[in-house]
Amino acid sequence: MKLVQCWDDGVTNDERLVALLRRHGAGATFNLNPGLYAPQRQFGWVHRGTDVWRLGLDELPEVYQGFNIANHTLTHPHLAQLPIAEARREIQEGRARLQALFGQPVTGFVYPFGTFNAEVAQAVREAGHSYARTTRAADAGVDQRDPMAAAPSCHFLAADFWERLARARETGCFWFWGHSYELINESMWTAFEASLARLCAEPGAVWCTPADLFEAPQLSPP
Ligand SMILES: [Zn+2]
Repeated sequence: MKLVQCWDDGVTNDERLVALLRRHGAGATFNLNPGLYAPQRQFGWVHRGTDVWRLGLDELPEVYQGFNIANHTLTHPHLAQLPIAEARREIQEGRARLQALFGQPVTGFVYPFGTFNAEVAQAVREAGHSYARTTRAADAGVDQRDPMAAAPSCHFLAADFWERLARARETGCFWFWGHSYELINESMWTAFEASLARLCAEPGAVWCTPADLFEAPQLSPP
């Protein structure tokens, strides 16, 4: 089964998360807003009583070394509420800066707050993205019918996470998402690590990027 995980917003907890993922040999995609970083770490906001810090721009390539990077816009606005020219700039500039920073093609996109409209979806496609993820959960597996409104299987803290995995087995792919800042105490980290180990032990498990689900494989020359 194809396993996909992606994590949004690029915060300091990602450093601990990538160490854990590396230990288990699990791949992941990180969805970043390159316009929101200062050279050094900066306080961002408070989540359930815990301070959330953004990583520093200078450390991003090292922290995410070996992982897939996708575009989450330049500054995380509600895209559907912006004039379309401004939304386009957020989408295009986010992608261009991430490609320059990480030196890898950026073909994935995640809507900030999961919100979009038809005009925004078209702008995302035209900017060179092969899929755009929403926050809606697919009924089973991954909803790939409209790549610009892709629905993953569930959030990583979904109460029915394992039931959704069971349903996803029949479809061949399972995709969960979240934010590492939602891991607010040691017991949550322990539980996530146990979940990750269980996922890695799935028969035939192979970690993929979301783009792997949406981009046609290159045909090799005869
Ligand atoms: Zn976000």
